[in-house]
Amino acid sequence: MVMTGEAITVGREQSKQRFLFVGNHSCLDFINTQMIVRGNLTDLLGGHADFVDWLVRAKILSQAQASAVSTEWSRKEREQLLEQGILFRKTLRDIAERIVARRPISASSIKSINQLTARRPGYTQLSYAEGRFERRFQPYAAQKDGLLAPLAEAAIDLLCTGDLSLVKKCGNTACILYFYDTTKNHARNWCSMRLCGNRMKVAAHYRKKQRKAKEKLPRRRN
Ligand SMILES: [Zn+2]
Repeated sequence: MVMTGEAITVGREQSKQRFLFVGNHSCLDFINTQMIVRGNLTDLLGGHADFVDWLVRAKILSQAQASAVSTEWSRKEREQLLEQGILFRKTLRDIAERIVARRPISASSIKSINQLTARRPGYTQLSYAEGRFERRFQPYAAQKDGLLAPLAEAAIDLLCTGDLSLVKKCGNTACILYFYDTTKNHARNWCSMRLCGNRMKVAAHYRKKQRKAKEKLPRRRN
């Protein structure tokens, strides 16, 4: 659950925080556009420009599509896109929380996913290149509100073909980032070593040292 009642920093400008792609899955990376920075819940999507930037970095939009959004869409349409995105991010967070808690996904989440994919009618195409087959979705003429369908499709992909036991929340209880554990032994605990892993390891090492120091103290005779 996203913590409420504390200061929410909005936008990357204020936080100087770059987008993170540590989730190994675009729908988890999308959830991770909300994170804790210096103890504050921070939303990296401070405006529609941030959102379009994220969609390009996540390879959901091409640079040309992003330019079209910036130049051809009205301000209201861009704001609606952001609104729709943020609403869907909430749905994805709920899904991830339930997966981790081994609880069933809600019917309203399934409905939200289907509503997004319904806005991008198209057909599946098969292609063959460099010795392998590839499935590609070919949308009919681009529809403005179908832009977020790939995120909904990523959620379908995760739920249908992913190993849900590998969807994990960072082991640092103060962190709200999620990831899909693709390590060989499935032993990944942290969103990233830089953000949480090293810090938690240093803390554990310090606790161990403290304990050892205490054990070494001469016992008091009664
Ligand atoms: Zn973390």
